[in-house]
Amino acid sequence: MALRSCLKQNAAHEDALQALLESSNSWINPNQVYLEAAYHLGQLGFIQLKEHYFIKCANPLDALDFDNLINPDCENKILISDDFDESCDDLICEECGRYILPITQQKQRFHVVSLYLQKQAILQWFEAELRELVFKNPSAGIYHVLLDNGFVTVILPDFIDNPSYLAVDRIKAQPTLITTLRKTLPHLPLDVHAIKLSDFINGNLSLQQVLHMAIEHGVPKEIPNVSRQILPFISLHQLKIAEKPITYSITIDSEGIFVGGIHVIGKQAPSRIQIFRILLEQYWRDFEEGKPKDMHTPLNLHQIAERLEPHMGLIDDLEQQIRRPLNKMQKAIEETLAKELGSNIKRDDIIQTLGWPGFKKQEYGYRLNPFNLVFTK
Ligand SMILES: [Zn+2]
Repeated sequence: MALRSCLKQNAAHEDALQALLESSNSWINPNQVYLEAAYHLGQLGFIQLKEHYFIKCANPLDALDFDNLINPDCENKILISDDFDESCDDLICEECGRYILPITQQKQRFHVVSLYLQKQAILQWFEAELRELVFKNPSAGIYHVLLDNGFVTVILPDFIDNPSYLAVDRIKAQPTLITTLRKTLPHLPLDVHAIKLSDFINGNLSLQQVLHMAIEHGVPKEIPNVSRQILPFISLHQLKIAEKPITYSITIDSEGIFVGGIHVIGKQAPSRIQIFRILLEQYWRDFEEGKPKDMHTPLNLHQIAERLEPHMGLIDDLEQQIRRPLNKMQKAIEETLAKELGSNIKRDDIIQTLGWPGFKKQEYGYRLNPFNLVFTK
């Protein structure tokens, strides 16, 4: 019985290891098995592990916090440190501007484990496994290994940078072993010998063993009725990040505000446009005075209110009338640009928040990012 449950545990650990290697991004509230597998991979150096916690501003499960909500739809996820101490640390939702007491109100914490695959470390480990053998490494993820009875080409398709090694004609030239991070492979047009890297890591298979199996298997043969093609691999973990423009143009016309030609704020949001204009005026003042970019003046909520009042009338609620539309505008700009230009747009690229996170509200200020913006008519 004990042996059986131990085997079951091992199988769960192996499954988790496999899943984490295959999809090394962020996991929210991973269970104990996944957590242990992640630490295991971390100890091996195969992934870099980062952990943090967040709370949700409006979380229906936080019953005690329910009466304090400003906006019951606020989905903001707010980082919270492990050693958060209510007696000296503040927690404010920057979306809806409310103070939160995460301990008193027993707010649920979410655990985020982010995994970053360390390709170089995996390849180094793999090469160390090959050290008893004679091998050549003509290209990333490709190894020609000499055994007593012939050569085997080992391909790690998740690590290659030259896909021509996956061409059918090349693979057909000699015994080949595919070693992959994936649990299942795409349909291949060749009967090539393939194994999971996690089986090596778990010690289920030895490299010598599978290399000999590949030799015995012989030269891969084409599976009939399949037209010739490059093997259908797309390298895992090589996310192409869209090139981010270095500067953005700003246009304001009757339709609203455009950043880099993308319509980010519509005319139906007059308070956001008005706040944007105030920040723009300040930008011009600093620009005309010839201030260095890092000295451009941030405006705090009081200053923005003062300058807005001639246009909008009396402002008696800074949080609701200024901070909220401002934060919403930052978020809307970030989301719209990220959707159009790729995901590496930061909230501060267009409107910067300075002094956050500080503790005194007066220290906060906002300004148009003088490093990224150019203006066009
Ligand atoms: Zn909120």
